[in-house]
Amino acid sequence: MLLYLHIPFCDSKCHYCAFHSYTDRIDRRGAYMEAVRRQLLWDLERFGVDEGEIETVFVGGGTPSTVEAERYGAFFETLSPFLAPDAEITVEANPNSATPEWLRGMRALGANRLSLGVQSFDDGKLRYLGRAHDGQTALHALEAAREAGFGRISLDLIYNCAPDTPELLERDIALALQSGVEHLSAYELTIESGTTFASRPEAAKPDEKSARLVSETIRRGELEPYEVSNFGTPCRHNLGYWEGKEYLGIGAGAVGFVGKQRYYPVAAIEHYLADPTRRRIEALDAEALRTERIFLGLRSIVGVDPNALSSKQRERARILVDEGKLIKRDGRLYNDDFFLADELTLFILS
Ligand code: SF4
Repeated sequence: MLLYLHIPFCDSKCHYCAFHSYTDRIDRRGAYMEAVRRQLLWDLERFGVDEGEIETVFVGGGTPSTVEAERYGAFFETLSPFLAPDAEITVEANPNSATPEWLRGMRALGANRLSLGVQSFDDGKLRYLGRAHDGQTALHALEAAREAGFGRISLDLIYNCAPDTPELLERDIALALQSGVEHLSAYELTIESGTTFASRPEAAKPDEKSARLVSETIRRGELEPYEVSNFGTPCRHNLGYWEGKEYLGIGAGAVGFVGKQRYYPVAAIEHYLADPTRRRIEALDAEALRTERIFLGLRSIVGVDPNALSSKQRERARILVDEGKLIKRDGRLYNDDFFLADELTLFILS
C-alpha cells in the first residue's frame, strides 16, 4: 500500500500549471492539516490498513513547502505505526520555500527523499514560466537539503518551451548533474486549458528531437531512464503506481485507488474542510485496468505480464517480440525505447 498526501497551496501560479492549488487560502493551512489527519484516520480504518503496511509516502501538491514542518507533525504521528520500517517518504518542495528550517523539520518527521521543483536554472526561462524563484535560489535550496541530511534528492526540469535552445537545455542538465542528485524528472511543456499559457500556445515548442536530446544528455550523465520522463535511482512510489499497487489518496484534489476503485476526495478546499471523508468513487472495469497496466508498463521498466493480456493482445505482443520491438525476459515483456510506448501500446490494443 502507498500513500499520497496532496497539499493544495502555492505561493503563486506558474504559467503552465493546471494542478489543483490555491494561492489565496494560505490562512487555511492549520485547518487543512487537521482535516487531512481526519481523512487519514478514516481511510486507515475503512480500508483496514495494517500496521507497517505503508511502503511509500509521497507528499505532493501544490507546494508542500508552503506549509511549515511543524504543521505536519500530527499527520505523521498518526501515520507512523502504519509505515513499513524501510518506508520511502518523499516530500516535494519549491526552492523559494525550501528553507533550512523546513528541510530540517521534514527530515525530523521522517522524510528521506526530496523532490525539488527546479524546472530550470536559467533566470530568463524561470521568469517566462512564471516560477517564484531564480537559478541561484535553486542552488542554495539544494545545498540546504544536503545540509539537512537529505541523501536522496530529485530535481524536476521542464523542456520544449519557447526560450529553450539546445545549449540552454544542456546547461540546465549539466548543472543538475553536477549537483550530484540521484534522480531527475524531465517533463515536456504541454499547454493545459485554464492556465496562463492557454492563451499563449506558442509557449510550447513540441519537438521529439529535443526530447531525445534531453534523454541522451541525462543518460550520458549516468542517470539511466526508468520511465519516459524519469532517470536515476527509481522512486519506489512511482514504481508502485505503475505496478498497479493500491494507494491511499489524502487531501483535497488527491486520488486514491483501493480494491479496483478509484476515489476522489472533494477538491474544493472549503467543502473538503467541512467533510474530508466526502469523495466520488469510480469503479474501474477489468478492461480499463488492463489497458492502463499495458500503457504504464511499456513506458517504464515495469514491463507487462503477458498472462494479464487477452489472447488477442498476447498474439499482437508476440508479433512485436518477433520484430524485436519488445523484449521477453523472465516471462515478462519489456520495451527498451520508452518513446515508442504509445505506439506499441496502441498496436497491442488494436
Ligand atoms: S508551484 Fe507547482 S503546483 Fe504550484 S503553480 Fe507552480 S507548478 Fe503548479
